[in-house]
Parts: sequence; structure tokens; C-alpha cells
Amino acid sequence: MERWAVIGGGMLGMTLALRLVQAGRRVTLIESAAGPGGLAAAWRIGGVTWDKHYHVTLLSDSRLRSLLGELGLDDEIVWTQTRTGFYSGGQHHSMSSSLDFLLFPPLGLVDKFRLGLTIFAASRTRDWQRLENILVEDWLVSWSGRRTFEKMWKPLLISKLGDGYRRTSAAFIWATIQRLYAARRSGMKREMFGYVPGGYARILDCFTARLRSLGVDMQTGVKVLGLQGSGGRVRITTSTGGEEFDRAVSTVPGLGTPSNVTYQGIVCASLLLREPLTPYYVTNITDPGLPFTGVIDMSALVDRAHFGGNALVYLPKYVAPDDPLFGEPDTGIEASFLDGLAAMYPKFRREDVLAFRVSRVRHVFPVPVPGYSCLVQPFATATPGLFCVNSSHIVNGTLNVNETVTLAERALPGLLSVPTAAPLEATV
Ligand SMILES: Cc1cc2nc3c(=O)[nH]c(=O)nc-3n(C[C@H](O)[C@H](O)[C@H](O)COP(=O)(O)OP(=O)(O)OC[C@H]3O[C@@H](n4cnc5c(N)ncnc54)[C@H](O)[C@@H]3O)c2cc1C
Repeated sequence: MERWAVIGGGMLGMTLALRLVQAGRRVTLIESAAGPGGLAAAWRIGGVTWDKHYHVTLLSDSRLRSLLGELGLDDEIVWTQTRTGFYSGGQHHSMSSSLDFLLFPPLGLVDKFRLGLTIFAASRTRDWQRLENILVEDWLVSWSGRRTFEKMWKPLLISKLGDGYRRTSAAFIWATIQRLYAARRSGMKREMFGYVPGGYARILDCFTARLRSLGVDMQTGVKVLGLQGSGGRVRITTSTGGEEFDRAVSTVPGLGTPSNVTYQGIVCASLLLREPLTPYYVTNITDPGLPFTGVIDMSALVDRAHFGGNALVYLPKYVAPDDPLFGEPDTGIEASFLDGLAAMYPKFRREDVLAFRVSRVRHVFPVPVPGYSCLVQPFATATPGLFCVNSSHIVNGTLNVNETVTLAERALPGLLSVPTAAPLEATV
């Protein structure tokens, strides 16, 4: 039987491992961290186990939901209609309904009309390749006007892309709006956000159990150090030794990515608080000067019983992989982030912070520069038998688990169709 190694035990590697084993391959999954999940992994904060990075599932996440269905979890998803806020001009504003939009003070009526038209235009556009050749700033200014760009779009772009927004194509904003409008397009009236009780910890437990029951050899805490072609097969050197496989597929972000594609990273703080900060799941920040780029109050979505009756808040700061913030100790980040919260929420009290943890990831998603889809490398590498499939291959979508699962399933036929170099019977 053909032996495959899947490198990286995030949702991409796990989905590939599942589909490969279902296609009759023998699979070893190699993950450097102590447990699977990657960006979707869970951790402990103040006695609570929940996602290290905030995660929601959308009603329209059909490929992910179908995978959760296979794991027996889709029916368990709790769906909630959440609210969105904006922090603009030192004030909190709701942006959760058409009425909120009409009453939104930071913009005048004409600006609102043009902003609405921009979102409508993006939601109706099918030809994303055309948008890939236009800078996001040029496209947004042409639809929304310079004033709205400076007031709304620019701070939102900076919050996700930093200065990288200047070399980002309009396909980025198109993909973001498409995701948010997917449910409405498919006939569902409103988008709902959902979570599996227990969060990704539960999803990953069930996923791991399924992979093991199908015979996948899951090796965690094992780091891949080198990959080498060896007569049509692939030799993998790891922190615990080395082994040869008929085929190997790496899902490690950034690996095999062309040098002109740069990744955006994240420093993301999780806070366990006695009380929720806000009724909004997401608060977008358009004011400059705060140390984080958004506030995500998970307790607006998830039953607080999961947090021991407390509230779980995330404060992300998206940064370039070489940003000095990666070298900042947790204590420094905690001090500046709590100052930021105190400035934004007068009722916030430092005594209510029960726990504070910081996650740092240098490679989260590639910055979609103009012409991005032409830069993306094929799945097959120059080394026979070795493939690279990772987040750089998501060309017309944002990074989310639905896209990740879709990518694994899209890549699979190509991976399986490459013939092996030698008769397998002779090599096994
Ligand atoms: C802050 C944040 C919020 C998000 N919110 C959402 C959301 O609300 N909804 C949603 O659907 N998605 C969300 N996502 C996106 C989601 O987490 C990703 O789509 C998904 O987890 C990507 O999985 P992956 O396997 O491609 O990458 P990763 O999760 O990065 O997996 C790569 C794996 O490779 C391993 N690895 C790296 N180097 C080696 C090596 N040398 N040897 C062995 N293993 C190695 C890593 O440890 C890691 O486990 C969010 C992501 C972030 C960061």
C-alpha cells in the first residue's frame, strides 16, 4: 500500500490525511506541536479550555460543515445572531442592522450611500481576477470616495494588513465581502455565527479519534527538519529520526512559497474577564493609537458556562513576521493592551482580568498582492513525490477553515493522480 506522510497537523493536514486514508493510502501525520490543530488549536486560560485564536463557523461554510457532519458534530453547532460594533471617534457604535448603518454618525448620507454601493458591487462581482490587478486602495476610493476610504476602509485595512495594504489587490476586500454575504447569496436571509460546544478542542478530539480509527499514524511533538528526494520517494528527517515515504505533502505555511509572497503574522492576546466588555462579537477599530486592531468578545457568541461563567475576549494585532512585537515579553504586551482597553471601555477594571495569555504566529496568511494567483506555485514540487499545499494556495478567498478544507479537497485529485516512480510492490 502506498505510504504517505502529511507534514503539519493543522486543519489542512488533518483533512488531507483523512481524504488520503479514505482513498486507500497508508498515512503518517507529523506535527511539531504537542497536539494537533495549528492555528485552530485550543489552550488553557485561567482554568478554561478554548481556542487559542477566536473561531466561528458560518452557516454558509458548507465544506467545513460537511466535514463536521462526518465527525458527528454538525448537528451540535449552536447558531447565534451576533452584533458588530465600531469604535470610531472615541465612541462605540452598533453596525448590526440597516438602521444602524443609516444612523451611523461617523459618515454622512452621501458617504453611506457610496459605502453601501461599494459593498453591493463587491458582493455582485464574479470576475475576481480583474480585481486582482487593481490595488485595493484605488478600487475602494473609486467606489466609496477618498473621505470614506480614509475614515473607514483605511483603518480596517491597516488593522489586518498593516502597511502591506498599500500593495494589496482589490481581490482581498472582494473575498472578505463575499464571505460575509455568502449566506445571503445562497438564499438564507441573515448570516449566523456558530460554534461547536467545547470549541475546537472538541472538534480536534473527534477528528483525531476518527483519523486514529482509520489507521492514521499521528505523530505529535515531532518536527520535520529536512525533506529530500530519494529515487522517486521522499526521505523525511525529523527531530526524532528519519523515515522514507512513497509520497509526502507539506502543509506548513510559508514553505515552498515564492520569495515575493510575504506573510502576515499575528500577536493575539486572550483575556478571561469576570464580565463581558461589550454586546458585540467583533468591535472594529477605526481610531488610531490603540495597541490592538480589534476586540472580539467571545461571550457575545458562546454560552458563558463554557468559560466558567466568565467572559473570554481576544485582542488581535496583525503584524509583519519581522515586527518587534514578536520580541516583546508577555508582561509588556499585557500592560499596553490593558491600557488600550481602559481607554476604550471606561467601565473596564484591571481587577476583573482573571487571566491573560499571548499567542504569537509569524505566518498566518499571505498578503494578496496584485496578480497573486499567477505567483502561486503548483502543488507538485521539483522533488518527485513531494507536494506543498498550504494557505498560499487560497487564491480567491480569505483564510478560514472552510477555505482550508476546500483547499485540501481541491488538491487531493492532483496529488493522487501523479504516478509513483517505481512499482510500489518492489519498494514497500
Ligand atoms: C486570529 C485568527 C482567527 C481566525 N478566525 C477564524 C474563524 O473565525 N473562522 C475560521 O473558519 N477560521 C478562522 N481562522 C483561520 C483558521 O485558523 C485557518 O484557516 C486554519 O486553522 C489553517 O489551517 P492550516 O492547517 O492550513 O494551517 P496551520 O493551522 O498553521 O497548520 C500548520 C501546522 O504545521 C505545523 N508545523 C509547522 N512547521 C512544522 C514542522 N517543521 N514539522 C511539523 N509540523 C510543522 C504547525 O505546528 C501547525 O500545526 C483564524 C485564524 C487566526 C489566526
